[in-house]
Amino acid sequence: MDQTFDVVIVGAGHGGAQAAIALRQAKFVGSIAMIGDEADLPYQRPPLSKEYLTGDKPYERLLIRPASFWEEREVTLFLGRRVVTVDAQAHTVTAADGATFGYGDLIWATGGAPRRLGCAGHDLAGVHTVRTRADADRMMAELPGVRRAVVVGGGYIGLEAASVLAKAGKQVVLLEALDRLLARVAGTALSRFFEGEHRAHGVDIRFGSAVACIEGDGRVTGVRLADGEVVGCEMVIVGIGITPAVEPLLTAGAKGGNGVAVDPQCRTSLPDVYAIGDCALHANRFAGDLPIRLESVQNANDQAAVVARVIAGEDAHYGAVPWFWSNQYDLKLQTVGLSTGHDDAVVRGNPATRSFSIVYLKGGRVVALDCVNAIKDYVQGRQLVVGEATAEPSRIADPSVSLKEL
Ligand SMILES: Cc1cc2nc3c(=O)[nH]c(=O)nc-3n(C[C@H](O)[C@H](O)[C@H](O)COP(=O)(O)OP(=O)(O)OC[C@H]3O[C@@H](n4cnc5c(N)ncnc54)[C@H](O)[C@@H]3O)c2cc1C
Repeated sequence: MDQTFDVVIVGAGHGGAQAAIALRQAKFVGSIAMIGDEADLPYQRPPLSKEYLTGDKPYERLLIRPASFWEEREVTLFLGRRVVTVDAQAHTVTAADGATFGYGDLIWATGGAPRRLGCAGHDLAGVHTVRTRADADRMMAELPGVRRAVVVGGGYIGLEAASVLAKAGKQVVLLEALDRLLARVAGTALSRFFEGEHRAHGVDIRFGSAVACIEGDGRVTGVRLADGEVVGCEMVIVGIGITPAVEPLLTAGAKGGNGVAVDPQCRTSLPDVYAIGDCALHANRFAGDLPIRLESVQNANDQAAVVARVIAGEDAHYGAVPWFWSNQYDLKLQTVGLSTGHDDAVVRGNPATRSFSIVYLKGGRVVALDCVNAIKDYVQGRQLVVGEATAEPSRIADPSVSLKEL
């Protein structure tokens, strides 16, 4: 065994970094190691499809903490190392280079790998996914030679990338398999609003489109659609979701499937093994206690705080209200709660003013809000979601009534 630590954190992203920070905040004095497969110090991922991609935020400003922080807090970093096996009985993890680390407690915070297209040409040069800084750097290096780009997927990452490219003057075609944008995460009114915004910025959105293959000779020259049309381009960005990176844990016997199953204290079914962030499949109160994974910074941070407190001997349970943000053009979307399964969606304010909210109801209760350039609604609406408040749709729709009053 190479080294043993009281806590080993696998994954040096948002959740992993926050777990180490929170452990020290909780006065945990044991040894901590963080093993991450990226070469970089822990950094913020959201700007990769926003200010970092536009060149407005340099790498140094992405860092979650400066290098000195980890030294001062005595968090030993093993970067550029991928953990490939977990031995739950021996309490060890082994990296691809053969190094083995012993642990007292293990925190699995590995996020997920971007899903790739399964078709011919998916690995041609110029075809990108956006998950890591290295991914974004590769795209940015190619951008000056790109006139036309195809974005596959009308979720947040695809839309943010489309907005950056359109603003940079590229011709953008966005392919979405379903009949509206953001179909998995938002109601129709929000989908139609963002569709209008992207079209107004020149993005050519094609619904119901399926990719047959990527064409090119070494480098991408176009995307062939299922109907035979070839959309010419010099770059393809694929934003079709992630696969949680949990194979080593599942192989070690942890329960799960689409993620690793955890309880409200983020414990997996393996002794002394916790999981947090994008890869953690947890029963969420705001999803009617159904098991879900949340892919957001807030969730990674909140679960990290729970695990740190539990390991430090405190009583802590995860129950935070989900929230998320997305920036496209000059629009700031903030989402609180989960709108899945809503039976009513009330538009508050006029979308044409580009400042409005959509309040989602289920059985009369407020379950979520999407707020576009509407920070006050977001802050006040959050309380409605947390408190499972009931409110008259006509009052919700009236912008002269503050959400606080409801
Ligand atoms: C482009 C982009 C934009 C986003 N925008 C937003 C946003 O606006 N708002 C928001 O709330 N969320 C956003 N997200 C989502 C958010 O970044 C994630 O939810 C968050 O990073 C999850 O944290 P995590 O710790 O679970 O995973 P990550 O931050 O992905 O960290 C996991 C780390 O573990 C590493 N790893 C994986 N497997 C292993 C292994 N076997 N051994 C060692 N290391 C391993 C990974 O390489 C990675 O470095 C965005 C994500 C992306 C990619």
